[in-house]
Formats: sequence, C-alpha cells, structure tokens
Amino acid sequence: MVWWHGLFTPEGGTRKLPFAEGETVILLDPENDKEFCYRLKKGAQVNLHKGKILHDDILGKEDGSVIRTSLGAPFLVFRPTLRQFIMHMRRDTQIIYPKDLSVILLYADIYPGSTVLEAGIGSGALALALLRAVGEKGKVISYEVREEFVKRARRNIELYMGPPHNHIVKLKDVYEGIEEEELDRIILDVPEPWRVVEHAARCLRQGGLMLSYLPTVLQVNSLVETLRGNPFFYSIEILEVLLRNWNVEGLSVRPYHRMVGHTGFIVLARKGEGNHGTQR
Ligand code: SAH
Repeated sequence: MVWWHGLFTPEGGTRKLPFAEGETVILLDPENDKEFCYRLKKGAQVNLHKGKILHDDILGKEDGSVIRTSLGAPFLVFRPTLRQFIMHMRRDTQIIYPKDLSVILLYADIYPGSTVLEAGIGSGALALALLRAVGEKGKVISYEVREEFVKRARRNIELYMGPPHNHIVKLKDVYEGIEEEELDRIILDVPEPWRVVEHAARCLRQGGLMLSYLPTVLQVNSLVETLRGNPFFYSIEILEVLLRNWNVEGLSVRPYHRMVGHTGFIVLARKGEGNHGTQR
C-alpha cells in the first residue's frame, strides 16, 4: 500500500483518500490546539490524557474528521501538511525549518520541472520541500557524505510521499566536484559552500541560481567574497528570515512573547555570462 501526499496524490491532488495503514496522521485537540503525530497501524492505540483512541477507528476516515476518545473527548484527525510533517519527523541532523524553506523555494525560484542539486541531504527536510516544488516532471539530486543520514532522509521522504522516482541520492562530497551539468538550481546546506562556487559556476546552466543556507555570518562573508571573485555570479543577495506569530485572544492582541531568534542566513547568486560578456 502506497499513500501519496500533496502533489503526488494519484487522484490529482484532491487528497480525498481515506486514511490507510502506514500513513502519518496529526491528532489535534481542538480545546488547546495541541498536536500529536502517529503512524497508523491496525490494532494499535493512542493513549492520551483525555482517553484512548484506536487506530482502527481512524483507518478509513477522511482528512479532517472528528474522532472521540474512550472518554468522549473530541479530536480532529488530519493528514499532515508538509510543514507539520517536517516538524514531527525524526531527525539525526539540524534541519532547515519551514520558515526558511518557504523563502528558499521562492527566492531560489524552484519551479515545476526543474532539475535541482542539493547538498547535504541531512534528515531530508529540504529534499522534501524541493521534491514537492519540482513536481513529478522535475528532478532532485542530493549529495551527502554520511550514509546513515541518507538512510534517515530516505525513510522520512518515503513516509511522506512514497518512494519518489525522480530523486537521485549520491554518497559524494560536493566539495570535490559536481558530476551533473546544466543544472537549473543548486541549494547548499554544507559548512563551506565557498568550496563549491567553482563547481557551481561550471555545472549550473546560464541563468541558473545558487542558494546557500548558513548558520554564521563568518561563513556568509567567506562565501560572498568567493562569489564576488568569480566572473559568473551576479545579483548576490544576503538575507535572513524573521518570523513572528501573534496572539489574538480578547484584549490580548499582540505578538507572542517568544520567537525564534536565529536559524540561518541565506545567500543567493545568479549565474550569467562571465565577466559581463567581456573576455576573461
Ligand atoms: N538540509 C538538511 C540538513 C543538512 S545538515 C535538512 O533540511 O534536513 C548538513 C548535511 O551536510 C549533513 O548531513 C552532512 O553530513 C552533510 N555534508 C557536510 N559536508 C558535506 C559535503 N562536503 N558534501 C556533501 N554533504 C555534506
């Protein structure tokens, strides 16, 4: 049994499929918006402080249905959005969080049908977002140096969308070179992306984009200097994403007291004809 989420739904994205064994679901307590995440398994049960829920009672139900615990408390059962799936999935590495992934997808202009190279795969959060954005006609190539991370990432991806036919994973050090050519986009989440700039200049198609995600500003500086020293990169942009949720309850209409202070910086560059078109 394969369950396909999002774009990969064989019915064309209606997501009207009933919940099946092996799927991941979100149980939502409507009283306090608390979320719990489970994989459905025949005969299994969930023990919540508000009572038990049998997986068998969820199997066959539709996305967004109400389910009652043994004590009569209502819970909503939802198919996870990609954001929810990423936040609940198992991880062995730092991941790129949804707030940054959202911006990466549009700023790096990941489009349906594009061929994107990413490094490293880590736990697969970025790979999942890319696979969804390139769609079935696009392709994602992931380079990763550590085999155990490849396993974890592959498992996470399969749990969300089944085994994708358009994902190629290579156990390779991206600093040593890129085998593919005419890539549309390159997205890097490795510590020393400046070591990839020469390869990217060669392996991106003209008009292609390269984006790097970096936790510290010293790394940003090294990358930007290298990009500026390379004749093929233009429109170099450096940014970070600050996201603030709000509390709206009675008179308490204000931002949350807490917010994520820092995740990473984003550095973007576009490849064009070298040296403004003059001889090198
Ligand atoms: N973007 C991932 C997290 C990546 S963590 C996610 O969202 O889940 C950084 C990953 O880069 C690690 O798995 C690490 O093993 C890998 N890595 C580090 N240097 C690398 C290199 N030179 N080539 C390929 N992968 C590399």
